[in-house]
Amino acid sequence: IERTLSIIKPDATKRNLTGKINAKFEEAGLRIVAQKRIQLTMDQAGKFYEVHKERPFYGELCEFMASEPVVVQVLEGEGAIAKNREVMGATNPAEADEGTIRKEYALSVGENSVHGSDAPETAAEEISFFFSGLEIV
Ligand code: ATP
Ligand code: MG
Repeated sequence: IERTLSIIKPDATKRNLTGKINAKFEEAGLRIVAQKRIQLTMDQAGKFYEVHKERPFYGELCEFMASEPVVVQVLEGEGAIAKNREVMGATNPAEADEGTIRKEYALSVGENSVHGSDAPETAAEEISFFFSGLEIV
């Protein structure tokens, strides 16, 4: 059984969308096996998104992620990484399919409500960035 790291981003926590987004995950058969609300420092946001540090939107992305609390969570299920990305929809909400989280809730390509790991290696790294083994049940 696979696990992936999900983040409910500041634009969504601010609009009280945590429950609605979690309902989408659960309806898709993803189990929330760990979850906490935290506020990232600029340093932590920068480290988490280090792979994007050469991209023009890196600074803006880090400031956004540190601007308000986020909900970080571990989702578990068969093919959880791909399934989560399917439920999230395309990065740009204008290109996201009907019924996806980003189609329904995202504000823009930057403020797009959710993050999800993109591969098994990044999922493992991102889960251990936020959670110890004892916190995942
Ligand atoms: P995530 O990694 O958050 O799950 P993703 O894999 O769909 O999203 P990436 O290409 O990894 O998208 O980009 C990481 C994040 O950077 C995006 O979710 C978005 O918040 C932000 N981002 C991506 N492209 C842009 C852009 N052109 N302008 C502003 N922000 C962007
Ligand atoms: Mg990504």
